[in-house]
Amino acid sequence: MEDKISIRSIREGLENREFSAQEIARVFLSKISEREKDVHAFLTVTEELALSEAAALDAAIANKEPLPLLAAVPCAIKDCILVEGIACTAGSKMLESYVAPMDATVVARLKEKGALLVGKTNMDEFAMGASTENSAFGPTRNPHDTSRVPGGSSGGSAAAVGAKESLVSLGSDTGGSIRLPASFCGVVGLKPTYGAVSRSGLIALASSLDQIGPFASTIEDTERVFEAICGKDPLDATSVEYEYPSEREQSVKGMRIGIPKEYFAKGLDAEIQSRVSDTLSELEKQGALLQEITLPHTEYALSTYYIINTSEASANLARYDGLRFGSKGKEPQGNLLDWYLSVRGEGFGSEVKRRIMLGTYALSAGYYEAYYIKALKIRALLLRDFQQAFEQVDLIAGPVSPVLPFRIGERVKDPLAMYLVDVYTVPVNLAGLPALAVPVGTSSAGLPIGMQFIAPAFQEHVAFRAGKAVELLHGRNS
Ligand code: GLN
Repeated sequence: MEDKISIRSIREGLENREFSAQEIARVFLSKISEREKDVHAFLTVTEELALSEAAALDAAIANKEPLPLLAAVPCAIKDCILVEGIACTAGSKMLESYVAPMDATVVARLKEKGALLVGKTNMDEFAMGASTENSAFGPTRNPHDTSRVPGGSSGGSAAAVGAKESLVSLGSDTGGSIRLPASFCGVVGLKPTYGAVSRSGLIALASSLDQIGPFASTIEDTERVFEAICGKDPLDATSVEYEYPSEREQSVKGMRIGIPKEYFAKGLDAEIQSRVSDTLSELEKQGALLQEITLPHTEYALSTYYIINTSEASANLARYDGLRFGSKGKEPQGNLLDWYLSVRGEGFGSEVKRRIMLGTYALSAGYYEAYYIKALKIRALLLRDFQQAFEQVDLIAGPVSPVLPFRIGERVKDPLAMYLVDVYTVPVNLAGLPALAVPVGTSSAGLPIGMQFIAPAFQEHVAFRAGKAVELLHGRNS
């Protein structure tokens, strides 16, 4: 059952009474106990919750009630997304004892649709990072090579799907945190259009960039989870009305695919370059029309991103003053300032402190115009680059990462080396566009390689169509 398991096969199996929802839950929970000591994808395993949801579903099936969209689909949730009654740490000591008082809207939607929540996944602290090594609770390991990182910041969610500990999962992507770990772990991941998915109940990193999105082993499963979570939510004023147009078309015939020359620049690993180029040539044989394009402001994207990201992070993280969160069990000591310093100093890791300082600096009087306002202007130019490109093409294709999954410890001491990994992913967040990461095979050493398809706003279905064509070429990930 395990190898070819999908949302569709679970549904068919339940309909034909081949297995129960509780059996599905147990298969995945036992996979979690088997793999966790090597992978460490989870911070909390919610065995009881998964089994009680499964029992309720089995009772509904016995009552001949219609099966919901995601009936008995095991789903893992990044630990910055609230699940009522379950610890929610965002990978930080600051929130070690915080228990979510409510469900995030995406979680409520998954529960309503019959998904089984198997656990909360490891992540870089407050989603700051590209390797999951910034977690306060130890790194997650790449299921394909446990000496290497799974990517980040949603490394736990990608690794859980890659290790078959969960069928699907949710992550968040502020500057690549879904696409990078998807490509490092050989799974599919979608960063939706800004506003397509509610952020209510997501612990914020940078609110103008953050989006929640799904991981799965197949394009079809990724699409089904996206369909289940997208759409307007009164609790998030930036979310919009969005009926997902389910895309049945699989052919890329006549699809105009733009290849930005800036995305194949110096520094791109040769094996990644050749897998992506070979895949594009195959799509061309199937009738896609490839066209070289230019996104001329790409070279400014990374610095623009890190100014906006740190500025917004410094504002968002001001609430963790150590009094409202993080102070549990600690006696106030000295005066108010001493108390602040002791709780904040211990509660945050070094990357979080670095970003709060950088962002506070960029927003301070005298520097605001030179850094923050300048970054906003370049952000507008980056968006214009994409808009002009989409006058000529339907979709843009390129690599996700310039490098293969690296070894644990290799980059974590050098923040700049870590930031450089984001070079091809951050422009998409700055422009608010959707992008789908799809596996395109492995390197000579067997490490997964991914590529991304960037679509115009609210055109996720076009990216999925190209993704399906790629999946047919490379076979599904199982
Ligand atoms: N690696 C990027 C960063 O550290 C992306 C993070 C994310 O998307 N959450 O900011």
